[in-house]
Amino acid sequence: MTLVAHQAARKPEACPALVLNADFRPLSYFPLSLWSWQDTLKAVFLDRVDVVAQYETKVHSPSFEMRLPSVVSLKNYVKRARAPAFTRFNVFLRDSFSCQYCGSGARDALTFDHVVPRSKGGRTTWVNIVAACSPCNIKKGGRMSREAKMFPASTPHRPTMHELNERGRAFPPHYLHESWQDFLYWDTELEP
Ligand SMILES: [Zn+2]
Repeated sequence: MTLVAHQAARKPEACPALVLNADFRPLSYFPLSLWSWQDTLKAVFLDRVDVVAQYETKVHSPSFEMRLPSVVSLKNYVKRARAPAFTRFNVFLRDSFSCQYCGSGARDALTFDHVVPRSKGGRTTWVNIVAACSPCNIKKGGRMSREAKMFPASTPHRPTMHELNERGRAFPPHYLHESWQDFLYWDTELEP
């Protein structure tokens, strides 16, 4: 099926839909659960979602026309994973994308540091890995915290899904459609 967009303020490519779970909470805060308009329409036609709100932008084929959904909710509740995966991204998210030694938030320069160095038997686990900027990582080197006098701002721990989701709320994306705001709660102030 070929869909053609009407003239409208917003191009379809700029019309992602916010995806809510069946309980009307976002599937994910960070990254925010968004689908492209194509994936969203597919899910609408497959009857997997309800349309909660719409953009002005319309798409049409010879036989039908519809406004693009801006918010959809899943018909079937998706259970959240119980334990977050141990990934670089989730470690950074747990640590709010800031160096645990100096507090700098230079995301590009963010690395991860073994609190107990590998050379001293430290393992690559939730409880021994923290986000650190490159300068701090290099400065600490293979030393223990007390030798380097560099202690992580918070003791590394295995986070819960809930905790990571809460963390993610501190990082709203650049684009937020007005229809999303009824379903989102951000820790930072929204731009008007
Ligand atoms: Zn640092």
